[in-house]
Amino acid sequence: MVRELTHFIGGKQVPGTSGEYGDVLDPNTGRVQARVPLASREEVEAALADAEAAQREWAGWNPQRRARVLLRFLRLADAERDSLARLLSSEHGKTIADADGDLQRGLEVVEFAAGIPHLLKGDFTDSAGTGIDVYSMRQPLGVIAGITPFNFPAMIPLWQAAPALACGNAFVLKPSERDPSVPLRLAELFVEAGLPPGVLNVVNGDRLAVETLLTDPRVGGVGFVGSTAVAEHVYTVASANGKRAQCFGGAKNHLIVMPDADLDQAADALIGAGYGSAGERCMAISVAVPVGEETAEALVAKLVERIGELRVGLSDDPAADFGPLVGADALERVRGYLDVGVAEGARLVVDGRQAELPGNGDGFFVGASLFDHVTPDMRVYREEIFGPVLSVVRAASYEEALRLPTEHEYGNGVAIFTRDGDTARDFTRRVNTGMVGVNVPIPVPVAYHGFGGWKRSAFGDLNQFGTDSIRFCTRTKTVTSRWPSGLREGASFVIPTMG
Ligand code: NAD
Repeated sequence: MVRELTHFIGGKQVPGTSGEYGDVLDPNTGRVQARVPLASREEVEAALADAEAAQREWAGWNPQRRARVLLRFLRLADAERDSLARLLSSEHGKTIADADGDLQRGLEVVEFAAGIPHLLKGDFTDSAGTGIDVYSMRQPLGVIAGITPFNFPAMIPLWQAAPALACGNAFVLKPSERDPSVPLRLAELFVEAGLPPGVLNVVNGDRLAVETLLTDPRVGGVGFVGSTAVAEHVYTVASANGKRAQCFGGAKNHLIVMPDADLDQAADALIGAGYGSAGERCMAISVAVPVGEETAEALVAKLVERIGELRVGLSDDPAADFGPLVGADALERVRGYLDVGVAEGARLVVDGRQAELPGNGDGFFVGASLFDHVTPDMRVYREEIFGPVLSVVRAASYEEALRLPTEHEYGNGVAIFTRDGDTARDFTRRVNTGMVGVNVPIPVPVAYHGFGGWKRSAFGDLNQFGTDSIRFCTRTKTVTSRWPSGLREGASFVIPTMG
């Protein structure tokens, strides 16, 4: 039976009225499992009006009281952990264990944001001049909009919502139309946890909903995560409409393997980071760079051996290493890139199209693929494939290896595997990339640091979560105050100085 999803506005499920729907598929079977309403301009505007009205009261709550809502939400979400992970997995196609990780990484940012009483403290200068005190406070922007991708339907909405709400904003989320059920349920849990209705609204939709959010004057800030072309567009339109925006885009993450690295460890890391979640992670490793021919030969042999042991399975199969891709378009894109790579002269050492795949043939499955002898001019190197395809680019020296991620147009994550601290230190300082792992393949920082790529992986200057997110979700107001004892000097016509 096909479920009919709703929006979530004013603390309750609201059916769509536009008459437009998108299909939510089961990637294991290719079948439609739900219909998601696609909001009209008027529906988005109604959600914004509701959010704007609710925000005034919410911003008046003291930060500790707001934090308690987040703490209650954590307990409720934790109690539903298993069903949330299953629901997420059924719409996305990642394994249930990986879906649980998606939730966990999101909940960690809620934990961080629960520290909001401390995080919101401003600066204070006593007696900046005679009888004059100067202090700053951080005030919410009002309504913040979030537009999120399909590949982390719990984590990224929570990365955006938790700091926004903790700071006293209302938050209007436009989740991916491919897997909206978990974000909808999380919004319900926030209300069950005591969030006043309307402070967190979810509008489902596509491009029209996004354009409305980007141009409506009630939206003070926009958080976007998705592909680079859309990230750049959202950043440009939001900025032109006077909003602050932080927009995160695509990636091509390299893992450098130095000759002194533990090659088994590096090969395991490449397998997990390259093929986990079928490669549908913005921090997936898609390029392996062994340094020196000997390293390359040994590494490729280890990778081929391990790929042979990988199990592609239904997303609820506990023995599966990864499940299907999210949709038929993704499958076509990945298969297409395998043809492109071969035509460009890369050596397709393992062809995932030949793998043994589960299901009846209608699911969006493809096995793990490995290209060797990829060169920087090839499209399979330059473009984000976003699937279980790893490319090996052989480098003759450390300097040549360092140049690859540094000169690539994307700069999200990068890793180096080595036993040499001096090389690792040089690499971390010189590489032109936002997040770096040393013997760590997916260096997604913990919730109290910050997440953000460089170059065409991010537009805007503040990172997600960590203290940057508090800065993004608030405006600084600075007060210079003097009490009556200092008011007897008569008018002054020069700019105030503190003497
Ligand atoms: P996407 O760009 O297709 O969609 C992202 C969001 O934008 C969705 O909510 C979608 O409805 C909306 N959208 C799509 N096209 C639009 C348009 N033309 N105008 C306005 N809105 C539009 O991305 P996706 O396929 O859902 O996600 C995968 C991409 O996200 C990959 O490129 C991946 O690298 C990237 N990603 C980046 C990060 C990061 O932090 N840098 C994290 C996760 C995913």
